[in-house]
Amino acid sequence: MQTRIDRLREHFPDADAVLVTSYVSRFWASGFAASAGAVIVTKKTAHFIADSRYIEAVTARVTSMTSIPMEGLVEEETAKLIRTLGAKRVAFEDCAMTVAEFAGFQKAMPEVEFVPLGETIARLRAVKDETEVAYVRRAQDITERSFAQLLPYIKVGVTEREIAKRLEILMLENGSDGPAFETICVGGPNASMPHGVPGERPLADGDFLTMDFGATWRGYKSDMTRTVAIGHVTDEMRRVYDTVLAAQEAAIAAVKAGVIGRDIDKVARDLIGEAGYGGNFGHGLGHSFGIEIHENPRFSPRCTDAVPAGCLITVEPGVYLPGKFGVRIEDDLLVTEAGCENLTHAPKALLVL
Ligand code: ZN
Ligand code: ZN
Repeated sequence: MQTRIDRLREHFPDADAVLVTSYVSRFWASGFAASAGAVIVTKKTAHFIADSRYIEAVTARVTSMTSIPMEGLVEEETAKLIRTLGAKRVAFEDCAMTVAEFAGFQKAMPEVEFVPLGETIARLRAVKDETEVAYVRRAQDITERSFAQLLPYIKVGVTEREIAKRLEILMLENGSDGPAFETICVGGPNASMPHGVPGERPLADGDFLTMDFGATWRGYKSDMTRTVAIGHVTDEMRRVYDTVLAAQEAAIAAVKAGVIGRDIDKVARDLIGEAGYGGNFGHGLGHSFGIEIHENPRFSPRCTDAVPAGCLITVEPGVYLPGKFGVRIEDDLLVTEAGCENLTHAPKALLVL
């Protein structure tokens, strides 16, 4: 199987070495989660500079790279290695490094010419390999199992915070490494705020409750939103729910490799507009995800990138009526040449609990 380093070499910048310093890119390149260190890749070799907390594990587990113990500062160890390799041009993560970090590397190797790596790794990360997809499937499985177990707990009088905490505990019990992001759990009028923070408001009869949450498995995340009703729904609530669901399903049906991000966003946005809620869908339709919860490309009005096969991306339209309620429904898709595979299997027919 082609490794991620092989893929980086296929898209190697005009440089002698690539210096990988961000957590996300280091993890992607090596499969090893370390909070510090550096990965250096040349056309022929790959190296992981790790401090004493990680060196033993890196040596044992990152077999595709030479492990180098970090005795001094990361920029000093990197400079030593770069000199040994004879690299004169070094591509660095300009999109991820701070100005101070960059100054440190420049000072440690003044003879080196640094060139920006740009979006090279981010674009490679957009296409997930089999291992990454398997990890996300597992995270999504945990997410759905936990949601099914949560449903009997949702009733009048329980607060948003209590539901959010219960959901996070269930995900941990089902094997999650931790929440993929801060769990969103908003009911009644609070649900009109797409990224509202769970509060102390108890659920009341006639509320919509929107839950947006995900699990983590071996460093990879899932992301799902479901909106359920408590007790009963009004005609308006049902109309909004049906609109959001129809928009989501139409957008999912239009997804396949090569589509432009904004074109899929438009499918859902037009349907919501035609239903009279055009001004009530403020955010983008979806985002790629994996190691990070928000990656590129996106289904958004501004995204002109083609979405490649192997991309994991969400479709999550919403309609938010300030002071009244909100509805969002979100699934995780794996983009394929022919269309997409929906990794989310939790039911979407309106649940009235
Ligand atoms: Zn979400
Ligand atoms: Zn999302």
